[in-house]
Amino acid sequence: MTLQQVKVTRDIAFKNLVLGSLSDITRNQLLREAKCIELRKGTILLEQGQVSNSVYFPTSGLLIGIHEAHDGTSIGNTVRGREGAVGAIPTARTLHPKRTGAMGRLVVQLPGEAIVVGKSHFAKILNDSFELLRVTLAHAANVIKWHEETQNCSRHHRIENRIAYWLSLLFFYGSDDSIPTTHASIAEVLGVRRESVSMALRKFEEREFIKMERSKLQLLSPELMRNYSCECETTISDLAALHAAGQLTLDTKLIGSY
Ligand SMILES: [Zn+2]
Repeated sequence: MTLQQVKVTRDIAFKNLVLGSLSDITRNQLLREAKCIELRKGTILLEQGQVSNSVYFPTSGLLIGIHEAHDGTSIGNTVRGREGAVGAIPTARTLHPKRTGAMGRLVVQLPGEAIVVGKSHFAKILNDSFELLRVTLAHAANVIKWHEETQNCSRHHRIENRIAYWLSLLFFYGSDDSIPTTHASIAEVLGVRRESVSMALRKFEEREFIKMERSKLQLLSPELMRNYSCECETTISDLAALHAAGQLTLDTKLIGSY
């Protein structure tokens, strides 16, 4: 992780949708103690169980959280690009001694940049600002929606379709048909065996969806891959619409809620 000595300008801040949804006054308050960091692929920003002192607002790239269970199995439980933040949503207090820190290891999946704000500074403004609370709630609503829409994925969707979805998601965030990933990394995020990933990728290669290279995959047809994705791929359309809108909005009409 490299700290860059660049000032967090308004243009840089607007690349993140949470920051871009705030008024100049609130955003400037937050950015008074902000730093811009480079996100290098594979960098671990936080270990599972560790308590973070920072809130990360990606402006490009992708952060993911990997939860490791007691039996050594793992699965991705957080996916956060420039539409969100990591550490901004206040967590419910728990009395369980092993559940006090991060629910997973926070790692850079796709390289990029992020704005980092100290957690105590963020919490202080969140306590005083209805506007920041409202934008944070809009962000939290998107995270909950994403989780609800994909919660059946690991149990009910076929591995091949899940891999196609994950690669389509990485293509969306990276905007590059050359995807830096490995069979082991895909297996870890999806919570499946590496052999199953290798078998599926070989099939994709035979069908000319992809070309496998060392530590990366070349998507030969992002469209075919997207079509082959499990039904969770609708979340990519939601993300695309959100990125295009450039703003987080909170629908308080409670339509469709329960
Ligand atoms: Zn799925």
